[in-house]
Amino acid sequence: MAQSQPCVLVVEDEGAQREVLKYNLEAEGFNVVMAENGDEAMLLVAEEQPDLIVLDWMLPNVSGIEVCRRVKADPSTRAIPIIMLSARSEEVDRVRGLETGADDYVVKPYSVVELMARLRTQLRRTRPASMGERLSFADIILDSSEHRVFRGGQALHLGPTEFRLLSTLMEKPGRVWTREQLLDRVWGRDIYVDTRTIDVHVGRLRKALMAHGGDNPVRTVRGAGYSLG
Ligand code: CA
Repeated sequence: MAQSQPCVLVVEDEGAQREVLKYNLEAEGFNVVMAENGDEAMLLVAEEQPDLIVLDWMLPNVSGIEVCRRVKADPSTRAIPIIMLSARSEEVDRVRGLETGADDYVVKPYSVVELMARLRTQLRRTRPASMGERLSFADIILDSSEHRVFRGGQALHLGPTEFRLLSTLMEKPGRVWTREQLLDRVWGRDIYVDTRTIDVHVGRLRKALMAHGGDNPVRTVRGAGYSLG
């Protein structure tokens, strides 16, 4: 399951703080990538497409606020939740942080427990299946904490890969996923898998979903990829 866990980008120039965050995020089961400054952060946002960014306000050169502004100005990265970290606690700065488009704001010194709770709140919204939420689409229900799938009330039997594939599709019904995007999400980008492999697993998923009848809910979008509905 590790590959489909959310990827969190930590942007923090202080090494000790970075390590504390990495340790705690990995303990929660997240994949973690780290940047020491704003330029590195922008590169990693483009390369890794993280699911969430924990962003320190005070960074050398390109500030946290500027990173936030850039991420939120780009339509391809706008939806990534950003939690800003700052030593500034005055209300005026809090407002300024949120005005740049940050989704939440935590004041240093922060409690790790509180930061993790806020992070989970953001991810339940954007990556519900990975956070153990129950998802539904038409007559299909996916219970990610119990690892079970039902269609029209009947339990379905899915292999682990098909389960991750369906979780991904059910998080964003109607979105067209390219084969490469599905491979990144379902297998992880560090593993080499031929893109045709995805077609095989989509075929198995369709078969499992239609085992007790019902239409094929996974649409092939010619020249693009797959979408649910
Ligand atoms: Ca700092």
